[in-house]
Amino acid sequence: MTTNTLSSNPLLQASKLRDGAFPFDLLKTEHFAPALDEGIARAKKNLDRIRTATDKPDFQNTILALETASEDVGRVASIFYTLLSAESNDEIQALARTLSPKLADFSSDILLDEKIFARVKSVWDQRKELKLQGEDLQLAEKSYKDFVRNGALLTSVQKERLREMDQELARLSPEFAENNLKADNAFQLVIEKDSDLQGLPETVVEAAAHAAEEKSLKGKWLFTLHAPSYVPFMTYSEKRELREKLWRARESRCFKDNFTNEEIAKKIALLRHQRAQLLGFPTHAHFVLEERMAETPEKVVQFLDRMLDKAKPAADRDLDQVRELKAKETGSPEIMPWDYAFWSERLKMKLHELDDEVLRPYFKLENVIEGVFEHARRLYGLRFKEVSDVPVYHPDVKTFEVSDESARLIGLFYADFFPRASKQGGAWATTLRDQGLQNGKIERPHSAIVCNFPKSTPTTPSLLTLDDVRTLFHEFGHALHSLLSDCKYVSLGGTNVYWDFVELPSQIMENWALEEEGLNLFARHYQTNQPMPRELIEKIKASARFQAGWFTIRQLRFALLDLAWHSKDPARIADLSAFETEATERTTLLAPVSGTNSSCSFSHIFAGGYSAGYYSYKWAEVLDADAFEYFKERGLFDKEVARSFRENVLSKGGTRHPMELYKAFRGREPDPDALLRRDGLIE
Ligand SMILES: [Zn+2]
Repeated sequence: MTTNTLSSNPLLQASKLRDGAFPFDLLKTEHFAPALDEGIARAKKNLDRIRTATDKPDFQNTILALETASEDVGRVASIFYTLLSAESNDEIQALARTLSPKLADFSSDILLDEKIFARVKSVWDQRKELKLQGEDLQLAEKSYKDFVRNGALLTSVQKERLREMDQELARLSPEFAENNLKADNAFQLVIEKDSDLQGLPETVVEAAAHAAEEKSLKGKWLFTLHAPSYVPFMTYSEKRELREKLWRARESRCFKDNFTNEEIAKKIALLRHQRAQLLGFPTHAHFVLEERMAETPEKVVQFLDRMLDKAKPAADRDLDQVRELKAKETGSPEIMPWDYAFWSERLKMKLHELDDEVLRPYFKLENVIEGVFEHARRLYGLRFKEVSDVPVYHPDVKTFEVSDESARLIGLFYADFFPRASKQGGAWATTLRDQGLQNGKIERPHSAIVCNFPKSTPTTPSLLTLDDVRTLFHEFGHALHSLLSDCKYVSLGGTNVYWDFVELPSQIMENWALEEEGLNLFARHYQTNQPMPRELIEKIKASARFQAGWFTIRQLRFALLDLAWHSKDPARIADLSAFETEATERTTLLAPVSGTNSSCSFSHIFAGGYSAGYYSYKWAEVLDADAFEYFKERGLFDKEVARSFRENVLSKGGTRHPMELYKAFRGREPDPDALLRRDGLIE
């Protein structure tokens, strides 16, 4: 690679565009590999300088030097992963297979570097003499802990053992997931008679016919255990015995069958436990929770117990309602697990028929975007001005300059709304540039949200469902967390917060989209310009609470099961059925069915990143319900509450412990009852 080529590589140059926007128009796929190599080479030089320094370690020459050592690598990675998820092709995907391991090796090499650690530790040990405080102290602590949690304080024999365990875990988790997938694929429900399709919507029947055709089962219908096939069948099929068949197949996956995960789950739990003990923690849950707002397994258990006590009676009422309806229509109140989705859907239709198609005309995309910007203006005084001089990676992407009331630049905002073959499904928020110290100065952030909303047609504009609207508000909340960040260091800024705190800024935004005052700002019929009728708004609110008790208990059940696996010595777990029954006993609503098991297909905790973290779904909901209640008490757009939320939460990133930040905003710790009240589970 000649200097000449490198000097024209846009990934390695300072941009002269508006606020240093990235020049996507100059970027070619072949720029990535050489830019990453050069970035790593530059970073290694910086790291060498830290490693071989002879002056006494201090914040500047060690912690700060480490924080800024790999800025080029960071830039290449953020642009690359933006494209990999939002504008990909075979070439980029192939590139990911070489770039991703390179990036992973690069970061783990730093954390294994004993000389760098020795200097970091020296700064940490002398933090008092060095008078470190505020964000400097926080950064030093984070840096030190990153090394320690990766085994830096262990003896070389122990380190060797830790690597072995990590390798073993890295092998077992994909094996667990693969068994899940194989079990899903091995099961087929083939329907041959029209009459067995009773109750299923037309689109579901069509998809099943298509799936059958692909398997050379022309003229038949195929259903599988994959969610897009399984969920509608369980919700709508009137054939009880077929629902039972499908349900039993799904709930017994990887349990006492050809793809059993029993031993793998036990092995994973045991390795995690031993790994945690090696690092000085009583259990894996203690290890994980050290870096969470919830802090300890005891606190999580206390939290779950409290939710459980109050939600259980509501869930029992939900179940009674469903039983009543079934008794009325069939003469028998008996509800088995394969009946629940079907009968609760029927109940929902009876109580509050709320059709997506009735709401859509009120949610024209342009209006919703204006609405979400208007929320940001009323709450935080932000202005979003569309600009045309910022290059984008696809013509659908819109760009905005964000400023505050005093016309100070807040950052750039990219919005990418429509599906295309090169984009992944779902919705997410990301940053093209983080807020904080880079290139020798504190930079403002470049934030992006990516969604998959229906595109307009020649006759109709893009019209969203209520779920889409909530998604847009949610992702926009993440974007605000990035945009309003006001921190010194990138590692502590924006959404770099503990994992059970990161959904507060996003989830709280969804609340405004469900309030009359919020909806009135943007929900107008796209043809008549009439505001959404009050009765529709009432229906939206009522349906948000439908069967909330039942769903809460389901989430609590998984959270308790996760904790049972990870907060005690798993060597005690012998029989999986007995273990699971005991761990989830208090959440039982319908009698357990023998031969079924949740742990063996619980990929969130055994193959995903949720181990000792499943509780955080409910935890984050409590935070947003409790924080939003404050707004409701003082006024939905109350300037003072908004100022406090911005100052104590949105602008602070991870510069302080989230509980401290939350208490500074709310004046006290979060109150779990706020969520129970919002869900209508208690008065
Ligand atoms: Zn989110």
